[in-house]
Amino acid sequence: MTITVEIPTPLRRFTGDAAAVAVEGTTVGAALAALVERHPSLGRHLYSDEGKLRSFVNVFLNDRDVRHLQAGETPLSDGDTVSIIPSIAGGSPPSGAPTAGATVLGETAEQADLLGRLAELPQLDAGELRRYSRHLIMPEVGTRGQRRLKASRVLMIGTGGLGSPLGLYLAAAGVGKLGLVDFDVVDESNLHRQVLFGESDVGRPKIEAAAERLHGVNPLIELVPHDLRLDSSNALELFADYDLIVDGTDNFPTRYLVNDACVLTGKPNVYGSIFRFEGQVSVFWGQRGPCYRCLFPEPPPPGLVPSCAEGGVLGVLPGIIGALQANEVIKLLIGEGEPLIGRLLLFDALRLRFRELQLQKDPHCPVCSEHPTQTELIDYDQFCGLDDGPDLNAEGWEIEVEELRQRLDAGEDVSLLDVRTPQEWEIARLDGARLIPLHELPDRLGEVDTAERLVVLCHYGPRSLRATQMLREMGYQAVNLRGGLDAWSERIDPSVPRY
Ligand code: ZN
Repeated sequence: MTITVEIPTPLRRFTGDAAAVAVEGTTVGAALAALVERHPSLGRHLYSDEGKLRSFVNVFLNDRDVRHLQAGETPLSDGDTVSIIPSIAGGSPPSGAPTAGATVLGETAEQADLLGRLAELPQLDAGELRRYSRHLIMPEVGTRGQRRLKASRVLMIGTGGLGSPLGLYLAAAGVGKLGLVDFDVVDESNLHRQVLFGESDVGRPKIEAAAERLHGVNPLIELVPHDLRLDSSNALELFADYDLIVDGTDNFPTRYLVNDACVLTGKPNVYGSIFRFEGQVSVFWGQRGPCYRCLFPEPPPPGLVPSCAEGGVLGVLPGIIGALQANEVIKLLIGEGEPLIGRLLLFDALRLRFRELQLQKDPHCPVCSEHPTQTELIDYDQFCGLDDGPDLNAEGWEIEVEELRQRLDAGEDVSLLDVRTPQEWEIARLDGARLIPLHELPDRLGEVDTAERLVVLCHYGPRSLRATQMLREMGYQAVNLRGGLDAWSERIDPSVPRY
């Protein structure tokens, strides 16, 4: 029988860019095996060396997680759709609680009163009545809903791509207290999607520019900038002052940190993630449904899933996903509608398709299950394997751009290996370099000679560092160019375009 396997964006490069592949198979395991037979390089992304499905990859049959069916043995019917759902730092997860397929579907936001702490809601003044009149005349919001928004305290983690629409709509809607967490500075390359910021903000702290802009949108609300890097030492205390947390981050350590801190403080986590032209949205709330860890117990190994800085992101995508998050936030705050608890919404901008998967609470979830094995925050960099990299202080792992310049000027025999994408190569490159994109490197090692003294480079350095590690493990002489092409443009040769 013919089965459609939906391929997520990060893995499409292994299927010749196909978004869906038709295969034959009578079970989920057989269908995936047929897929890997056709596209062998997918194999190592789906299976561990022991042949087990990797823990950061979820497989759904139609809208159900096969772990809660018969896993690989789950039988298929003609026309079924099997979806591979990996975690993306731009974000995503699995979960499980109510074991019925319906999970928490049908539970209304009203049942989850986030403002139970208040004996009384604040009144609206004349200016607020005018400003929010289009809300007030809707029965679903009304004066009561608007007063609830005014009483609400929302913490936004990140003021970037997702944070821009989130901040704009939550401020405009009249969320009484809006906390902003960021430590980054506005960069020119942010402007194609981070619509909170303009040309004149380049170089400013995001938190400062964001607070200013949002104050301009709605001066009636309280904006609380938290100029800090969220970590295990400050998250619980910070979250305690808010009713709801919105995850607009772009990296795995912060995602797991936000999830765990939300579970430990009992707060809902309105989650969104983006990558290239694909987005995910859910509401993770350990007390009422699955959490992020129920979906993705472990992060992918560093480097396997590219970040938006490496893989790119369609500028409008965070606008769509962030607006969907804002919608969930407002519903939860006013207590109306069906929140996205126990459901993962997938959006494919390229094909303009929404899909919804059902999530279940994992009865063995280390943080949100009845008998959690983790009851406090941990070191999330370590959890995500970011501490396992090479000791860069050790002799010979990296060189600075100035040293490369000297070696080239001295006529040393240096081979420049660029591991960026062909699209980036089109934008800018170093004279004399050759291109082997990182994901093609394992299959193209034959083009590199062990006698060559390789200097490996990418845009900023992380991808070439992974390539350097891989090459060294295979016996090649390789060093990483610290700071990559960007550092070269900045410090050595400004005629090489920066992007
Ligand atoms: Zn959980």
